[in-house]
Amino acid sequence: MPRKGFDSLPSTAAGGLGGGSPEEGMARRITFSYVVGLAFIALLAFCLHLLLDSVIAKQNDAATIINIAGRQRMLSQRIALAANTLVLHDDGEARTLLQEAMALFERSHRGLLQGDVELGIVNRPSRAVAALYEGPHGANVTIQAFLADARLVAASLRNDAEIEAALQRLTKLATGRLLDQLNEIVARHEAETRETVRQLRNVQIALLAAIVLALIAEAVFVFRPLVRRISGYMNELYSLATIDALTRLYNRRRFMEQFAHFHALGGRTGLPLSLVVFDIDHFKRINDGHGHAAGDRVLVEVAAAARASCRSTDLVARLGGEEFGVLLPNTGSQGALMLAEKLRVAIEHAEIIEGGVTIPVTASFGIAEAQQQETPEEITRRADMALYAAKQQGRNRVALAPT
Ligand code: GH3
Ligand code: MG
Ligand code: MG
Repeated sequence: MPRKGFDSLPSTAAGGLGGGSPEEGMARRITFSYVVGLAFIALLAFCLHLLLDSVIAKQNDAATIINIAGRQRMLSQRIALAANTLVLHDDGEARTLLQEAMALFERSHRGLLQGDVELGIVNRPSRAVAALYEGPHGANVTIQAFLADARLVAASLRNDAEIEAALQRLTKLATGRLLDQLNEIVARHEAETRETVRQLRNVQIALLAAIVLALIAEAVFVFRPLVRRISGYMNELYSLATIDALTRLYNRRRFMEQFAHFHALGGRTGLPLSLVVFDIDHFKRINDGHGHAAGDRVLVEVAAAARASCRSTDLVARLGGEEFGVLLPNTGSQGALMLAEKLRVAIEHAEIIEGGVTIPVTASFGIAEAQQQETPEEITRRADMALYAAKQQGRNRVALAPT
């Protein structure tokens, strides 16, 4: 077999399976960038997940705070109403209502300022919200004054001027400044929530865009080269499996596949099919006399001559060693004889010069026209027998197998 032939394979094909080859380095690089790309996408997806989690948590917190801050307005009105009912109608039930409303109002107020996990207020207020509570005119002062008067009223047993004054003050606050300030606090909370959600949405869009970009980059810089490489290797493998490396002709395996195909086709169309096999005469002598490399050159030249003498629809193959086959579709034995004779003359007259000496080369030919009842192997055997006969009759000649 063409031991030397494999040495002359392109380096990509020869080095493809070897350890530490450029292909292996490339494969490692592609795998590495693939894994890095995937890890990056996974990281981005995880960040997106964390972000969505925090958006949901923030929305929940904000909803709770807005709810409690809003309830403070309602409680302030209930306190004022209960205080008035208590003082004007001396209603015992109103006192309980007043005390309950005050307790909840106070607790919520503390929670909104300092946080209260039980109430669902996780964070302390922002600086902007805290500023609304602070200072001599802040909501805190108003609320403390309001609660002090409410406490006075709630504790009163008799109506007197002091209670009347306290009732008037708290009623005025509840319908005026206190209500305005509580409104402002709720509005500020709502505005801050909207702003936070807007910012988080921008981050979310940025993260999504990063994921899409990472996917595109992965497709362009990892998948595309990967697919190209795989299809390149597949072509190389196909070529290695079907093409003779030295002569670039089809190998025996591919030739026999094609032979079976054309033989079956001939069975349906009724068109003739002929097989020519030929073998270089005394090739051993060429190797011995001129060296193995010269022998290889002769094989390449003979292959080129065979290709040049045939039609593009004919199939030329190296069947092994210095034996070749030509499949002639749509050609009977007479056409095959003409082709073989033409090729025999071409080889005989080919000028193959090695080290300043012309190497005389001839070949012997065997021809068999395919018969439908035969298998391709049987046809090949007949052609081989004709080739043997040509050798027996003195070589450098063409012999036709009897049918
Ligand atoms: P005949 O005329 O009867 O065909 O004689 P021959 O010498 O051509 O036949 P034989 O079968 O005795 O020798 C064929 C030689 O071809 C033997 C082998 O070393 C040589 N050979 C087979 N493959 C290659 C190859 O790829 N390159 C070279 N240089 N020689 C090869
Ligand atoms: Mg030979
Ligand atoms: Mg031989």
